[in-house]
Amino acid sequence: MALIVQKYGGTSVGDLSRIRNVARRVARTLQEGNEVVVVVSAMAGETDRLIQLAYQVNDNPDLREYDALISTGEQMSVALLALALQSMGIPAKSFLGPQVRILTDDGFSQARIQKVEVQRLRKELRAGVTPVVAGFQGVDRDGNITTLGRGGSDTTGVALAAALQAEVCEIYTDVEGVYTTDPNICPEARKLSHITYDEMMELASLGAKVLQIRAVEFAKKFNIPIHVRSSFSDKNGTLVIKEDEKMERVLVSGVTYNKSEARITVVRVPDKPGIASRIFTPISDAHIVVDMIIQNSSADGYTDLTFTVPKADFKKALKLVKRTAEEIKAQEVLADENIAKVSIVGAGMRSHAGVASKMFTALAKENINILMISTSEIKISCVVEAKYGELAARVLHQAFGLDKGELRKES
Ligand code: ADP
Ligand code: ASP
Ligand code: MG
Repeated sequence: MALIVQKYGGTSVGDLSRIRNVARRVARTLQEGNEVVVVVSAMAGETDRLIQLAYQVNDNPDLREYDALISTGEQMSVALLALALQSMGIPAKSFLGPQVRILTDDGFSQARIQKVEVQRLRKELRAGVTPVVAGFQGVDRDGNITTLGRGGSDTTGVALAAALQAEVCEIYTDVEGVYTTDPNICPEARKLSHITYDEMMELASLGAKVLQIRAVEFAKKFNIPIHVRSSFSDKNGTLVIKEDEKMERVLVSGVTYNKSEARITVVRVPDKPGIASRIFTPISDAHIVVDMIIQNSSADGYTDLTFTVPKADFKKALKLVKRTAEEIKAQEVLADENIAKVSIVGAGMRSHAGVASKMFTALAKENINILMISTSEIKISCVVEAKYGELAARVLHQAFGLDKGELRKES
């Protein structure tokens, strides 16, 4: 008998017939002799609706109240699924984050899980009851409700799987697994049979929202296999697992693109020690995450400094940077929200030359201008004009042969 955590995303519980479909799948897994802990997201569109409500009543919502509000979507879906299971004769009980005791820090809207208590869930399992746990939410030390950032139910699923030492965390979504690129923008995208934690972390951080990055971080830390699959089919999906020597290292396993960042350039910054720190300290103090940074040294004692921030924090960051730019006597601050970042990711890049030049050549052939470049051991990202984002992703997908050939054979 295995213990399996099954997490169902918003589309999978999008209406009552889909909730019944989920209940049938849970029932089948139980009949096969397993124990199941279910985690669910809010019904599709519900979290967006709640966020809009918050902003309609207050354009700068207090984040404690914001979390109290946007966590309610999951309260509805857990209760509905528990009722659907009960109507099929399956003992089930819904639990909110604070009821399980999913303890987080107090970083409202982006809280981090610190500890998951499992006594209550274990007690229910022993009694033959299937727990249905609300994803995306927890409780801080002072009893405040917190949420884990968009897509955070994935992290709830994996954190529960780790705490319960489950055999696998199954993530049920609206596509059949992790693809070489977003199947909704590139019809040639192909499903990967497996992918390493490190590659998946890069894909997730670069815009593949199929898994929340923190979920993959947790899975890697506790070595929990994640099986990403569709709630609408019985096909095997993608296994996210640790790298092993037998695994063939494909050069590039995926292409991502993301339009959620904006670019800020500080023009003619005096080129002397401490300036970068002056610019970035107020930004980090405001909890804004800076992604790419480019700085050239120049001959005449001045340099331009360009970086990207999430669009959600763009206005705040711009205000802070303008203030610093005046203090340090930079010439001006330029801003650009019309950018997209396309990236290629692959563990095989570590040991291959020529990947970057192949990427740049493929983009050049389509006349796509590269505005910024950044690299890590297993990824290369280019910022391009937003209107070329999807085209660039498709071009790179083809250039690296992801649309054909065998993917990920065991060697
Ligand atoms: P859920 O509501 O089930 O959590 P999400 O919308 O968060 O689902 O994530 C699934 C979506 O992720 C897919 O519909 C797809 O558009 C998107 N996606 C982006 N990149 C990829 C990728 N490389 N592989 C699979 N899906 C991807
Ligand atoms: N309902 C939350 C969201 O829409 C959490 C999730 O779906 O994972 O972001
Ligand atoms: Mg999701």
